[in-house]
Amino acid sequence: MNTIIEQEARYCAHNYHPLPVVLVKGEGVYLWDEQGNRYLDMMSAYSAVSHGHCHPRLVQALTQQAGRLAIVSRAFHTDQLAPLLQKVCEMTGQGMALPMNTGAEAVETALKAARKWAYTVKGVAANQAEIIVCDGNFHGRTISIVAFSSEPQYRDGFGPFPAGFSSIPFGDSDALAAAITPNTAAFLVEPIQGEGGIIMPPPGYLKRCEQICRDNNVLLICDEIQTGLGRTGALLASDHDGVRPDGVILGKALGGGLLPVSMFLARRDVMEVFTPGDHGSTFGGNPLAAAVALEALKVLDEEQLVQASARMGDYFLARLAALNSPFIKEIRGKGLLIGVEFHADKVTARTVCEQLMVRGVLSKETHETVVRFAPPLLIQQAEIDTVVDALAALLAELR
Ligand SMILES: *Cc1c(COP(=O)(O)O)cnc(C)c1O
Repeated sequence: MNTIIEQEARYCAHNYHPLPVVLVKGEGVYLWDEQGNRYLDMMSAYSAVSHGHCHPRLVQALTQQAGRLAIVSRAFHTDQLAPLLQKVCEMTGQGMALPMNTGAEAVETALKAARKWAYTVKGVAANQAEIIVCDGNFHGRTISIVAFSSEPQYRDGFGPFPAGFSSIPFGDSDALAAAITPNTAAFLVEPIQGEGGIIMPPPGYLKRCEQICRDNNVLLICDEIQTGLGRTGALLASDHDGVRPDGVILGKALGGGLLPVSMFLARRDVMEVFTPGDHGSTFGGNPLAAAVALEALKVLDEEQLVQASARMGDYFLARLAALNSPFIKEIRGKGLLIGVEFHADKVTARTVCEQLMVRGVLSKETHETVVRFAPPLLIQQAEIDTVVDALAALLAELR
């Protein structure tokens, strides 16, 4: 047994089940292990590494800012935060932003904004606000977020949970219309469910949800932590449906694959419910994170990564579809957020991932049957060919 893996097993909480590989270096779409073996990264750290590993411009922004000013808290202004927030608001069409660090924190921020908006603007009676979510959702791991998870393992052993949430089937806009009450503050939804297994709603779903929310004075809040910033071939996945949410949550790729950076963005009148002291974060909006995130957005623009994601995603999906393998049940995705579902009785997703690893491709199963293919957005056709050829070879061997 590898000594690093043993050491980690001894000292690190067993809240993950990693593949048995010890990575020491990354560059672009590639990762290297201790023995110098090279892998194509199909995980991108759950879509946090859309810009590729150690992008030179981002590493430079990080090191330059780290040597100048890194952390002061928001007790003071810095020269880095405002330019980032203006840029991200202009790109997403939102009015204001509240910077946090991890995705779950930004989701919590959205929940707090929605509740306070319900009480102070919509006129819901104290402590009666309700937030509607979808079955199969993934919004993070805090206690209030797992309170509305439909995944038993995420909840088991962690109660009691806060109240005020209800869950409806994903992709069913009639269920949303039926679930709304006068106390409904918001509908929180992922445009494509990532951790749920790359689940795509029917066409036009989000647009209908937007109309239902408008008609009922309910906030539509899209969790784009995974789908945002080009992952699905549009800047935001909600752009595919021409939807302008009342609130948007970003994280993961916003940190350029170098730092945790997240934020909740919203219409001005929604964000204005926050007053000094209502909410905060010691590290949220720090100048180091802001410098990296601003550079990450510029790189996204200048290297046209959103367009690349759309183009390469189409190519990847077409090549996977052409495999015609009896092991494959379904191929789903948009842009470079792709899931391949295998027939549970024929092969487990874990086995596919282990076999891909041996062939120089790193991915991870989500649930028992789905393998994700979500590489950095700068992946090239030849690299996609390598991945699909590796998958084809291992499926041929399984036969
Ligand atoms: C990853 C993810 C989160 C949680 O982000 P963390 O940074 O892990 O807290 C929330 N929502 C979605 C859709 C995600 O994919």
